Amino acid sequence: MTGDRHTQVVIVGGGQSGLAAGYHLRRLGVDFVILDAQSTPGGAWQHTWDSLHLFSPAAFSSLPGRLMPPQPGEEYPDAGHVVTYLRDYEKRYELPVERLVRVLGVHRDGELLRVETDSGSWHARAVISATGTWWRPFLPAVPGRRHFGGEQFHTVEYRRPQDFAGRRVIVVGGGNSGAQIAADLAYDAELTWATLRPPRFLADDIDGRALFDAATARRRAVDEGRTDTGGVASLGDIVAVPPVREARDRGLLKAAPMFARLIPGGVEWADGTRAEADAIIWCTGFRPVLSHLAPLQLRGRRGHIATTGTRAVDEPRLHLLGYGDWTGPASATLIGVGRPARDAARQIASLLSP
Ligand code: FAD
Repeated sequence: MTGDRHTQVVIVGGGQSGLAAGYHLRRLGVDFVILDAQSTPGGAWQHTWDSLHLFSPAAFSSLPGRLMPPQPGEEYPDAGHVVTYLRDYEKRYELPVERLVRVLGVHRDGELLRVETDSGSWHARAVISATGTWWRPFLPAVPGRRHFGGEQFHTVEYRRPQDFAGRRVIVVGGGNSGAQIAADLAYDAELTWATLRPPRFLADDIDGRALFDAATARRRAVDEGRTDTGGVASLGDIVAVPPVREARDRGLLKAAPMFARLIPGGVEWADGTRAEADAIIWCTGFRPVLSHLAPLQLRGRRGHIATTGTRAVDEPRLHLLGYGDWTGPASATLIGVGRPARDAARQIASLLSP
């Protein structure tokens, strides 16, 4: 345990969001530290499945200040390339990341916020929470889960199709993770893909660039008091990245409706139809990792903390960054986090100025 330490700003989380915030704080001459629970750089990108590729080309997946270099031979870089980029980014801008430090709680302490970690505490005038969602996988309440008897996984545990070769696998979820993991498994496993509603593929020529444009147009419309354009959701749910497109075009990605319950050794639909299964992979999303903020008692209905931009409405010394559109349009993407990170850094700098 080390004693109490002081800095102007503590950033909780050293993934892409924390690094983008650090970049902007550094430019503004603010002292800060980034505390990250992992032993190595790269945030959640270190843990994704082997075949995951970005849904945008490198140049459209960049943090502020430095373009992501292209990955030789790949228009859409893989997760390993992102990890390398984040490691270089951290080094290039000399961002002070303290690793293997888990933040346990953020507390009010008079004029300051006290950040308790598993290796001592920090006092700061402001905190940016950038802990992502990867460490809080969401599983829907489907009856019978305990009686199934087969194996169950979440997206976060899936690595490669060889682990499921020849087995009867049900992939649940009609978003990007579900579609990509179903496409990955379509050749090796006996696949059933179950989705709540029929999958909505984006047009083949739409990738992450168009999604970012849609999110930006939405923000502008809302900022200027015009009608909400609906942003990304109005375009569809699934980016037809090359492996998804290929599996779909071969007829291997046919979705079944969502089943009603799990039964021993399989699943059952509402009309009594059954399917046997050895494994179920729940690609059912994530929730923001916010438990370290519990001492501040800011959570409202649905578990979210009310924000204006990135700033917590009821605690102006706290900013939330990168969790999704509620903390800035497309803020949970590489290219989208730059602007909210800049806004958060500027607001904190003016809070700190006498
Ligand atoms: P993370 O990368 O999760 O980093 C958070 C960091 O905080 C981690 O290092 C974690 O260990 C640390 N942490 C958490 N809690 C604590 C604590 N209490 N104390 C200290 N440290 C803590 N985006 C794109 O731009 N393009 C894509 O193609 C794309 N594809 C995606 C595919 C998938 C399957 C998923 C899940 C996401 C994808 N995203 C994509 C979205 C987004 O870029 C990632 O979710 C990204 O990892 C979010 O970055 P982050 O820094 O906010 O969070």
